[in-house]
This record gives sequence, structure tokens and C-alpha cells, in this order.
Amino acid sequence: MNHSDKIALPPDSSIYLCAPVNALVEGIYEENIHLSEILKHGDFGLGTFDDLDGEMIILDGHCYQINSAGKVLEVGEQVLTPFAAVTFYVAGDHYELNEPTSAGQFMRWLNDLLPSPNLFYAIRIEGEFAHLKVRSVPKQANYRPLSAINNEQVVFEFDNITGTLAGFFTPDFLSSLSVPGLHLHFLSADRQHGGHLLECVPRQIRAGIQLINKMELSLPLTSDYLRWDFHRNIRQDLDKVEK
Ligand SMILES: [Zn+2]
Repeated sequence: MNHSDKIALPPDSSIYLCAPVNALVEGIYEENIHLSEILKHGDFGLGTFDDLDGEMIILDGHCYQINSAGKVLEVGEQVLTPFAAVTFYVAGDHYELNEPTSAGQFMRWLNDLLPSPNLFYAIRIEGEFAHLKVRSVPKQANYRPLSAINNEQVVFEFDNITGTLAGFFTPDFLSSLSVPGLHLHFLSADRQHGGHLLECVPRQIRAGIQLINKMELSLPLTSDYLRWDFHRNIRQDLDKVEK
């Protein structure tokens, strides 16, 4: 690409963050933002729930909660969240992977589809997976840093499962706002299983990628957020809990 060439983008391709992720990493698990507010800004995305009560995935405007027992519930607009990232999903190009691929090769394949590490991307992958490792988190009291909860996460592993991976790529330098790099959540086709993706061995998949060059960020107005001292560098914590 010539240095002055531009990548073609769909009009108004933007990501919405209802709070900066560093508030979550510090342990502010109650921001009381209604799902109805989140859905005004997108029909596709991920996040968590107030009190860190499980993993959130939003597909086609439907929001699902995967709790720490591994149970999936479709939830209504009244549920509350401290952190979610959404977009109105419009895939640009699609890419298929139909050959045996290790978990490491899969992550490299996915990263290589992205033309630059300096944009956001929404990523939706449909297909069959030979192996998947996901996690969810048990409900928490406020103010325990996210890194302290790392060894309480519950891991689920599946073989030969069909479903959808949904999430985002965030530029590394925006790590105080959203999880840097690839961040994907899984929901099985039968809506029975899911979680935050830890490892994936695909069998036959189709990945859709949406380039995103705008961001809308809401800053919470809770007293917790307004009074918090955000001087601590949370990058190490984030690498520990979200990778
Ligand atoms: Zn996650």
C-alpha cells in the first residue's frame, strides 16, 4: 500500500464503550448501565454484568449471559453492566479456514487478516471447532481488583462444537479503554454453552471482519468512578486476566 492510500471503510463504522475498561480492572463492578442503553449503540459485542456476574455476548441484538456454572441465559434490557463494547455489525470481507490448524496458528491467521494494528475491528466467526477453551467468572463484591479474581475463574472445555465467536480487536495503545488485541466471546449454536475465549482449535470456520475507525466512549457518573484514583498502571493486570 502506498503511504497515502486509504483503506475503504463502511460509513459510520464505530465502536461504543459504555465505560473505560480500566475501571473494571480496578474493581468497579457496579456502574448500573442498562442493557437498553448499550443496545442503542450496537447489536453485536461483548462485556460483563454488574457484580462481574458472568460473561456477556450480544449477537443480532440478542444479549446472553454465561454465568460461572456455564449456564447461558438470554437477558432483557433491564440488566445492568459496568463494561460493554458494541457496534452495529456490518462485515466487510469474509475469510475461510478449512484445514487443520493449531490454536497458535489460528491466532496468527486471525491477526494476519487485519490490515493494520492501529484500527478497531469487529470480528464474527461462525463454524465448527475441534476444541474450545472458554471461561466465566463468579459474581464478585465491588473493589477487588480483577487480577485478584483470576484464579477463581471457571474454565470450560468443549470438543467438536458449533457456534459463534464475537468480539473486537483493539489497538495496543488504547488499553486503558478496551482490552488490547483480540478479545472474543463464544456462544454455541444451541445457545447452551459459551464464555470468554481462552483457546481455540478451529475445524471449519468463516470469519467476517469489520474495520472500525471511530469510537464513542461514555464515562460513568457513579461516585465510585468520580472519586477513583486511576494513576496505577493496570496493564500487567489486564494481560493477566484477559489473555
Ligand atoms: Zn471477555
